[in-house]
Amino acid sequence: MNLNLTGKTALVCGASRGLGYACAEALAKEGVSVLMVARREDVLQEAAERVMKVATHGAMVTYVAADITTEVGRVAVFSVQQDFDILVTNAGGPAPGDFRQWNKDTWMAAVDANMYTPIALIQTVIDGMAARGFGRIINITSGSVKAPIDVLGLSNGARSGLTGFVAGVARSDVAAKGVTINNLLPGLFDTDRLQSLTESAMQATGQSEEAIHTARKANIPVRRFGQAHEFGAMCAFLCSDLAGYITGQNILMDGGAYPGTF
Ligand code: NAD
Repeated sequence: MNLNLTGKTALVCGASRGLGYACAEALAKEGVSVLMVARREDVLQEAAERVMKVATHGAMVTYVAADITTEVGRVAVFSVQQDFDILVTNAGGPAPGDFRQWNKDTWMAAVDANMYTPIALIQTVIDGMAARGFGRIINITSGSVKAPIDVLGLSNGARSGLTGFVAGVARSDVAAKGVTINNLLPGLFDTDRLQSLTESAMQATGQSEEAIHTARKANIPVRRFGQAHEFGAMCAFLCSDLAGYITGQNILMDGGAYPGTF
C-alpha cells in the first residue's frame, strides 16, 4: 500500500513517548518531516533522535520543547514553523479522581488541555491546509468519549466537548478543500499513561499490578493491551491520500472492548 506521504510535513504534539511518539515514528517512516513537541527537552531530544533513525526519503525530524497547553508554548512552536500538512493533537490526559473533589480550576485545566488546546492548534493550521488543498488532522482523544470511565470524569467531559466541535468543523467548508479531521480513540495501550493509571488503581484498591492488569485484559476480547506502533500505523493511514474519504469520524482502537454493534 502506498500511503503517498513522502515530502509532507507534520506537527505531532505530546510526541516524546507513547501514542504521540508512535505517530511521529510511523509518519517519519513514510517520509514525512516531523516537528515533535513535548515538555522535557532531554527526553524529547532523545525521542527525536530515535525517530530520525527510522525516517525515510530524506524526511527531517525537528523538535520544540514546549507545554502545548499554554499560549506561550503554542507561540514557541509556530514561531519555528507555521504551515503543516498534518497535525496530530495530543497532550497528557487528566488525572483520575472523584468529581466531588474537583473545583472550577480543576475543570478549566482539563478543558484547556484536552479541549481548547486541540481547537487552538486546528484554528492555526486549518486555513493554510485548505488553501493548499490538502490537510490531515488527527486528534488523540480516548475511548472514554464513547464509553465513559467513572474515575476519568475530566477526560469524559473535556474530550466530549472536543468531539462535538470536531464533528462540526470536519463537515465545514474545509472538507471540500482536501482537509480531513478525525479523532483516534485509544482503549488500553501499553504506555506510561496506562502505567500511571494502574498505579492510581493500586493505591485506591490495594490490589497488585498483576491483578489489575489481569482484570483489565479480561475485559478486552483480544486479551491484551494495544501496542503503540499499532496506533501509529492507523494514524499514518488516516493521514494518507487513501483516507481522503474519511472525515469527522471517531475511530476506536480498543481490542474490541466496547461492546456495542456500532
Ligand atoms: P503518555 O503519558 O505515555 O505520553 C504523553 C505524551 O504527551 C508524552 O510525550 C508527554 O511528554 C506529552 N505531554 C504531556 N503533556 C504535555 C503538554 N502539556 N505539552 C506537551 N507535551 C505533553 O500518554 P499516552 O498513553 O501516549 O496517551 C496519549 C493520550 O491518549 C493522553 O491524552 C491519554 O490520556 C490518552 N489515552 C491513552 C490511553 C492509553 O491506554 N495509553 C487510553 C485512553 C486515552
